Amino acid sequence: GGSGSASTIKQVKLERESELRIEVGNDAPLRLRLLNGTAEIFGTELPPEIWLNFPPRLKFAVFTWYGATIEMDGATETDYTADETPMVSYVNVHAVLDGRRSRAKASSPDDSGSSQGPRVIVVGPTDSGKSTLSRMLLSWAAKQGWKPTFVDLDIGQGSITIPGCIAATPIEMPIDPVEGIPLEMPLVYYYGHATPSNNVELYKVLVKELAGMIERQFTGNAESRASGMVINTMGWIEGVGYDLLLHAIRTFKANVVLVLGQEKLCSMLKDVLKSEPKVDVVKLQRSGGVVSRNAKVRQKARSYRIRAPRSALPIGAEPAADPTRVVPVNINRDLLHLVLAVSFAKEPDEIISSNVAGFIYVTDVDIQRKKITYLAPSAGELPSKYLIMGSLTWLET
Ligand code: ADP
Repeated sequence: GGSGSASTIKQVKLERESELRIEVGNDAPLRLRLLNGTAEIFGTELPPEIWLNFPPRLKFAVFTWYGATIEMDGATETDYTADETPMVSYVNVHAVLDGRRSRAKASSPDDSGSSQGPRVIVVGPTDSGKSTLSRMLLSWAAKQGWKPTFVDLDIGQGSITIPGCIAATPIEMPIDPVEGIPLEMPLVYYYGHATPSNNVELYKVLVKELAGMIERQFTGNAESRASGMVINTMGWIEGVGYDLLLHAIRTFKANVVLVLGQEKLCSMLKDVLKSEPKVDVVKLQRSGGVVSRNAKVRQKARSYRIRAPRSALPIGAEPAADPTRVVPVNINRDLLHLVLAVSFAKEPDEIISSNVAGFIYVTDVDIQRKKITYLAPSAGELPSKYLIMGSLTWLET
């Protein structure tokens, strides 16, 4: 050492119930491994000694219950150890949920009430750690052998699929700290905008469709039913945002509401839900490690993943009086480089209520021939001829 060695390897010893908080540098990935002890990343245990690769800019924490030594190789934006975390309160919530799942499993499947596991909804302002807490609760449950359903109502950040969607997927294994939520069988509804205020009615309709679909799946699947769900929500908690939270709580029949770090929101929800005696509203402390991203960073994170139309409506079209009316789009140059959702609808009047099969990316538009060329994740015919366009815009970064 000392003579310009390029080695950036560093070891960090973590005491029990502490965590190493990391922001990977902007330019290169970070390698990290568990040298000894036990540790987890957002609820998923690290394998011993195996190097893991974390992409640039990723923000995460390596937490240990009993102590661990971590080895890192690469540049970080920040890395520091914290011994004050809310993890004990989070794992206590998990233990309560676990008990409810066991009771649901043990009761007769004919009893639709008692055979239903916990339906947890996580609420709070933007950057309060909602997605992270959802992820921990899911991973801890999956580790225990449950198959909880993850529901993501956050159209802005969407951890299951692209922004502009609401989606659900069963979680059968602890979530991979690098790969994130598995994408095998998500149930996706395309809303097409980055905020619900563009079309509140449409957002509510889709939330209702998604809830109805999960309800039907639970009817035929005692295991999923007993495992319950974890619902992640948007950070919009005032005005219409608050109404939409209540709408989600009621539509999904949530019976546990976890409020992250917001006294006022918690007491408002407690007050309005006290007449619904089967709903527990629990306030939880937010983690000091949650990294706040300002609106610009969030916008940027979105546009990394999507390019979409400049306006909600095709040129010349008037806003529809009925917010859930489907408006046909003309084949024009505006479609170039857009992401369109492929609906499962068989008929136009099914488009609003149908989930989507996936997305295509428009690479060319031939206006004369009214033909578009696209990239799709798999070859072959699309499952439907109905494509949905939204209003998400691509911002040059
Ligand atoms: P929200 O869903 O409320 O907007 P997130 O759960 O997405 O908030 O957290 C915001 C960011 O903070 C994410 O990048 C997440 O990975 C990071 N983060 C959360 N908890 C920690 C922690 N304990 N240490 C370091 N980073 C964290």
